[in-house]
This record gives sequence, structure tokens and C-alpha cells, in this order.
Amino acid sequence: SNKPNIVILGAGYGGMITAARLQKSTASKDANVTLVNKNDYHYQTTWLHEPAAGTMHHDKTRMDISKVLDLSKINFVQDTVVEIKAEEKKVVLGTMELDYDYLVIGLGAVPETFGIPGVKEHAFGITNVDSVRQIKDHIDYQFATYSQMDEKHDEMLTIVVAGAGFTGVEFVGELTERVPELCKEYDIPREKVKLVSVEAAPTVLPGFDEELVEYAMNLLESRGVEFKINMPIKEVRADGVLLNDDTMLKSNTVVWTTGVRGNPVVENSGFEAMRGRIKVEKDLRAPGYEDIFVIGDCSLIINEETERPFPPTAQIAIQQAYTCANNLKALIEGKKELEVFNPEIKGTVASLGGNEAIGVVGSRKLYGNSASVMKKMIDNRYLYLLGGVPLVMKKGKLKFY
Ligand code: FAD
Ligand code: NAD
Repeated sequence: SNKPNIVILGAGYGGMITAARLQKSTASKDANVTLVNKNDYHYQTTWLHEPAAGTMHHDKTRMDISKVLDLSKINFVQDTVVEIKAEEKKVVLGTMELDYDYLVIGLGAVPETFGIPGVKEHAFGITNVDSVRQIKDHIDYQFATYSQMDEKHDEMLTIVVAGAGFTGVEFVGELTERVPELCKEYDIPREKVKLVSVEAAPTVLPGFDEELVEYAMNLLESRGVEFKINMPIKEVRADGVLLNDDTMLKSNTVVWTTGVRGNPVVENSGFEAMRGRIKVEKDLRAPGYEDIFVIGDCSLIINEETERPFPPTAQIAIQQAYTCANNLKALIEGKKELEVFNPEIKGTVASLGGNEAIGVVGSRKLYGNSASVMKKMIDNRYLYLLGGVPLVMKKGKLKFY
């Protein structure tokens, strides 16, 4: 047909909401909309710390794309994006090529290693469903093996979490819930297990509300987490991490959460990027490309109040998807004026394990159970936006206490 081709790369927060919005609008009739994703399922990146620790089954974080989108309106292609050939308006996939008239890049992020030696070889990342299954299985295996050894190697029970940003703190919080279960399962005394959170900056959660940071640290310390702040990791080795003061912290399990960069497909395709992220125009298009939108963790937008980039979040990815879908629809209809993206940051809430969390919502500070309830409501709200009440009932967090 001579309908324009819209191709969406990545079925994460940005890609899924863009596709769902187009499906609801006339754009799905006036254009051929194709969604490309590595897997035939969508998963919730913001929940991955839970299956990583083993406090949630990984299937709870994922859902079949065919059950959420109407695949009679959206073409779905399961394949891996290898390269974007912008000059030829083509996308190279693992097994085929696709032509596009309009492209949406929503491929998410990968761990930032800062070129630190050994990270790729010896550390785990909280990045996708399979990477977190590996973490969970690895930790289980350490406990199982330790229980069977005559000569005990305590580094098998030391878990190092590199970086105490939100991902590191949320993950170590889940571990404080999981470790007592593992100790019980494998008859291991709790005091044998060490959970160490290593942070380069002078504080945990640098930049976040100080009172809430203190609340989080006190809580996690009372649950057995040891913090090493002001202590950049210089190298990861097979037997642990080398700290900035040249001491070795022996550990068989290093989980790397020192921040993220945009999907490498972006840089490998020749786009100008900062930490793999394309600094987009106000209408979310890549500079110099009238036909390419970039959303989510592959995009970079500046906070005009601070003149610094916004941290990449699902909150922003979801909001960008609404603007992106509106702008695609406008282009299909031949309109020249596009919507400007204005992020509306509602706040930040981070879980600490169990019924504990911290957060700032608007001007309100929350901690403890009220923050935890808020966090679950935020998680359910996304499911509601994507698939209405039925998806909330199926995949939501419905136990509040
Ligand atoms: P994603 O949602 O990550 O999706 C990317 C998609 O692209 C995936 O489906 C992936 O399979 C697919 N893909 C990747 N590469 C390829 C390829 N080559 N070919 C085909 N498909 C590919 N943000 C918040 O706002 N609130 C939170 O509470 C929060 N908690 C977080 C907790 C954790 C543990 C982590 C890791 C992050 C958290 N974030 C949170 C950040 C948030 O998850 C990201 O900002 C968000 O996922 C970005 O959305 P996205 O659409 O860009 O990518
Ligand atoms: P981050 O950049 O927020 O934190 C990374 C931390 O690692 C920083 O504190 C940094 O100082 C530290 N670090 C860097 N190099 C180090 C080194 N060599 N050794 C030790 N520590 C080092 O990254 P993140 O926590 O991975 O989060 C990624 C994105 O996802 C962020 O934008 C974050 O806001 C978002 N996120 C949000 C939530 C939430 O809202 N609940 C949860 C998780 C992630």
C-alpha cells in the first residue's frame, strides 16, 4: 500500500505506550505501524530489582505483547535491532531489513561501566528479564554450594552492589528481604552473609533529600547492609572488587548499578550522542532528522531549571510516548506544527524492600509504609495506562500490606 510506514524500535515503556496510543487513534488506519522487539513479551524494567533478588517471580514483570496490543492493528516483528541506516531510511534487524517513513527509537539503556576493567567479565547487570534471572540463580547457587562445602569460603556469601543510586538501593533493599529466606532454606547463619553497598560519592543517593537518605540508610543498616561511601570501585576481578584505597573486597557476586547509558545501537548507527543518548529537539525528533523520534533512555532532555539533563526514568519515557504518538499522528495528517514535550515530574519513590520505601511526591516527603503504598500505586497506574483495569488485575501489585 502507499500508506506511510511507522516503525517503533523497542517495546519498553516508551515503545509500548506509543504503539498503544497509535492503536487507539486513526493513525493505525492511515499508516502501517510496526513494533520491533527482541522478545515477544514486554517487561517492566522498573520492577527488575525484585526478580533479581528473588523476591518476585520474573514472570510477574513480563507480559505477552500479543495480549496487550491488538496485533491486527499493529504489526509485531520479533527481532533484534542491529543498526539504523538513517540516510537510507532503513533499519537492519538480525534476520531482515525494514523501510520506514517515520522511526521511533525506544531501545532503552545498558549499564554504564565507565570503562572500569572487569565489569563486563565479572559483574552482573539489572537490565532485562534474563539478566536478572541469572543474578537470582547465581545467588541461590552460592548459598547451595556453601552449604555443601567442608571448607567454607565466606566470599560466596558476600554480595557487592556497586553504586548506591536508586537501582542499587532498591536492589539491596530486596536482598535484605531475600537473604533471611535463603539462610533458612540452606541452614546458613545470617551473620555469615555480607551485603555491601559501595558508592563513589560522599553520600548514598547523591542529590536526593537528605532526611530521606538518612532514613533509608538507617533502615538498611538495621537490616544488615554495610555501606562503603566515598569509595569508587576501580576494578572488578573474578574474586571481588578492587576499591579506590587499593583494598580488595572479596566476593563471588558483584552486581553493577552505577548508572546507565543509551542503547549502543544509537552510537553504532552514527548518531551524535552523550552517554549513548541523543539530545532531542523539543518535539522529540533527533536533530537534523525530520523523520526520527527518540524517546525514553535513548533520549536526552535538559531540565531548564537546573540546565542539566533529566535523569532517565520510566516516568519521562511514558510521558514522551504520548507526545511522540500525537506528533506521529500530526505528521501523517500532513500537519506542520508539532507538540512540544514538557515533562511533568510528579516525584520519585523508591522501594527499600518489604513494606518500606522513601519518596518525594510534589512537595511531600514520604517514608515507610505510606511511601510503599504510593510506590505500588505508581506501578499499578502504568499498567492501567497500558491495558486498563484487566491488566492491573492480572499483573498489578494488589497486596498493599
Ligand atoms: P525500556 O522500558 O527499558 O525498554 C527497552 C526495550 O527495548 C526492551 O523491551 C528491550 O527488550 C528492547 N530492546 C533493547 N535492545 C533491543 C534491540 N537491539 N532490538 C530489539 N529490542 C531491543 N524509572 C522511574 O521512573 N521510576 C522507577 O521507579 C524506576 N525504577 C527503576 C528500577 C530499576 C531496577 C531500573 C533498572 C530502572 C528503574 N527506572 C525507574 C528507570 C526506568 O526503568 C527506565 O528509565 C525506563 O525503563 C526507560 O524506558 P524505555 O522505554 O526507554 O526502555
Ligand atoms: P544513578 O546514576 O542514579 O546512580 C549510580 C550511582 O553509582 C551513583 O550514586 C554514582 O555515584 C555511583 N557510582 C558511579 N561509579 C561508581 C563506581 N566506580 N563505584 C561505586 N559507585 C559508583 O543510576 P541507577 O541507580 O542505575 O539508575 C538509573 C536511572 O534509573 C536513573 O535515572 C534513576 O533515576 C532511574 N531509577 C529510578 C528509580 C526510582 O525512581 N525509584 C529506581 C531505579 C532507577
